[in-house]
This record gives sequence, structure tokens and C-alpha cells, in this order.
Amino acid sequence: MEIKEAQNKIEEFDKARDWGGDWHLKDLALNITEEIGELWNLIKWVDEEKQRKIVSENKEQVKDFIGDTLFLLLKIANKTGVDSEKALKETLEEYEKRMPSEKIKEVKHANKLAGGIDNK
Ligand SMILES: [Mg+2]
Repeated sequence: MEIKEAQNKIEEFDKARDWGGDWHLKDLALNITEEIGELWNLIKWVDEEKQRKIVSENKEQVKDFIGDTLFLLLKIANKTGVDSEKALKETLEEYEKRMPSEKIKEVKHANKLAGGIDNK
């Protein structure tokens, strides 16, 4: 499914339930933090190796996180009149400019390009 198609499907989902006119942007934004909290609860306070193990053993929960969060993001796109496909395309174009692949391979970390604190 294309991103724009998914956004349209979510709009239809809301309209079918007469939710189209509701304006609960704050609640949707807070709901995303709840989803992030669910992922955080899986992997908090453990090192990278343990995180990888937890993720591989809890793929279903990770999949739910991705699905629920995308749903909420696309719902926000509908509420605010943003074309999610265009937004992602522009973000990727901006990241390509800010973090050119050859330069990133040289410095190993994007923050070094920006003169971040780990630019040693
Ligand atoms: Mg969830």
C-alpha cells in the first residue's frame, strides 16, 4: 500500500465512523507518546545487544508499535491537511542534502557533520 493510499484509507475509516470532523490533535499527539512508551517499555535500560534480542523475541509488539504509530501519524496528516507522501519525500530530500552518504561514511556519524559534541 502506498503512503497516500493509506492516508486516504484512514480518512475513509474516520468518515465511516463520523469522526471526520473531530479535532483531537492534542490527543492524537499524546497517543503517539503512549505508543512510544510501549516500545520503550520493551527495551529500556538494557544495552544494544539485549535490545536486539528483545526485539527479535517480541516482533509482534514491535509490529503493533509501527502500525499504531503510522496510523496515528497519518490521522494527524488528515486532520492538518498534510500530504504525508510529499512530507516524507521532502524530508528524505533534506536528509540527503544534510547527510550525503560519502561524507557520512568518512565521519561515521551525522552529528559530526553538524559539529556536534562527539565531533572529536
Ligand atoms: Mg499500541
